[in-house]
Amino acid sequence: MRLPLIAGNWKMNGLRAEATALASEIRTALDRTPAEGVDVLICPPFLALAPVQEALAGSSIRLGAQDVHWEAKGAYTGEVSTAMLREVGCVFVIVGHSERRHIMGETNEHVNRKVKAAVAQGLTPIVCVGELLEERSMGDTYNVIERQIRRAFDGMPAADVARTVIAYEPVWAIGTGKTATPHQAQEAHRFIRKLVAKIAGPEVGEGTRILYGGSVKPENAKELMAQADIDGALVGGASLNAESFVRMVRYRE
Ligand code: PEP
Repeated sequence: MRLPLIAGNWKMNGLRAEATALASEIRTALDRTPAEGVDVLICPPFLALAPVQEALAGSSIRLGAQDVHWEAKGAYTGEVSTAMLREVGCVFVIVGHSERRHIMGETNEHVNRKVKAAVAQGLTPIVCVGELLEERSMGDTYNVIERQIRRAFDGMPAADVARTVIAYEPVWAIGTGKTATPHQAQEAHRFIRKLVAKIAGPEVGEGTRILYGGSVKPENAKELMAQADIDGALVGGASLNAESFVRMVRYRE
């Protein structure tokens, strides 16, 4: 039984006061009428993590970061470690988001190191994979996803793979308003689940949460989430508004 996870990726949005206000609004709505049977996660920018953690104290909403470095400490200017994230209350971390891969030049090797470091230090990595539009047009979607997943989990025992979440985020659907059809998304998720089963065994394949990301909004969340292998959503733009985020958390209602 995979509990759905609705995760908000705030990206580089929100000064501390705005981030705290948004977190408090989401918290108040979910405190008033709790959403049963769904995990809720918000991933603010680094500098808003501590105040958002305070705003969420005592609630069941989880806190996550948008990136992490693989080394524990040292001369890595500008980077943030797993221990620093845990200290401010993070339990999840997004790794290999397409914006980091395509704007910041993050490679599959970097992703692999980050995933390993996160798991080793007790953070749950949300490993993002997904194809570019050109790759889909060339019929290369599944090769790209397979390469990204195999490399992300390279050298990891099955027990560690079991401690990750995967997000399938077709790059052409992120922030563009274009969503994969529920059928396209389900096909990709099915493929990913089978691949995880090949890599780490059928139980891990069956138990791994696979989120969909790419222009998810209240209007399409229910249909996407109804697919057999879609276990939640990683939401960018539509997570920046409390009302729309909470509507997605309540996608079943
Ligand atoms: C994301 O940031 O992971 C994302 C899917 O963004 P958006 O929902 O805005 O497409």
